[in-house]
Amino acid sequence: MKKVLAMLMVIAMVASVAALAGCGNSSETTTDAEKTYIIYSDNAFAPFEYLDTDTNAYVGVDMDLMAAIAEDQGIKYEMHNEGFDASMGAVQSGQADAMIAGMTITDERKETFDFSDAYFDDGQVIVAKAGTTMDDLKGKTVAAKTSTVGGEYAESIKDEYGFTINYYEGSDNMYQAVSTGADVACVEDFSVIGYAIKTGEVDLAIISEEPANVKGYGFAVQKGQNAELIEKFNAGLKSIKASGKYDEILAKYGY
Ligand code: GLN
Repeated sequence: MKKVLAMLMVIAMVASVAALAGCGNSSETTTDAEKTYIIYSDNAFAPFEYLDTDTNAYVGVDMDLMAAIAEDQGIKYEMHNEGFDASMGAVQSGQADAMIAGMTITDERKETFDFSDAYFDDGQVIVAKAGTTMDDLKGKTVAAKTSTVGGEYAESIKDEYGFTINYYEGSDNMYQAVSTGADVACVEDFSVIGYAIKTGEVDLAIISEEPANVKGYGFAVQKGQNAELIEKFNAGLKSIKASGKYDEILAKYGY
């Protein structure tokens, strides 16, 4: 009898501990104000997010916009600068609540992500050593970044120009491949390569005409998840546009 009682007590204890733990994790009892959102981003995509080697901190338009919007809306968050493809995977698997990574809003991505209002517009260009022409791509390899619209753009024109594609995880790896001659060219968002050229980080030139597929960048969550976070992001974006903070952030990075 004693044994049975002891067992029952143990079961009751385990059950109450489990219930407590369950409560702590439940989104019903955790208000938005208490929640710390996990936000992923790219790590070598200046001027949107890149490592400031002086302070060893990630800086950039996205980092500053997120901080300003979070302050305006009282959002608590933790930033993880892990790369673009890793960010997409983290949001899709639920490991991250959201991503802000110079991410282009596309209809295809809208099937798996919910986006904020657009906060910047950009399109893709082809980049190579100065003097290279689009005709020089024939029979060569062109670098593109995994999971990006730049990669999609490269796929869409590869037959017309007769090149094949090598994929890289980071924009920095891509630029290096072109600089060393491993690939004849790469595809990149216009503002990003423009910034790298302007700052002297790369000695490359834009060889295509106008940026292709110009679209907005958006903050993204997994489709159907964290709707309150998208609402807050949009409200904060409006607010920092009205206050002049948005313009101030862009001006800081040369826009
Ligand atoms: N804007 C591009 C895309 O969304 C590239 C983003 C990035 O490399 N961080 O695919």
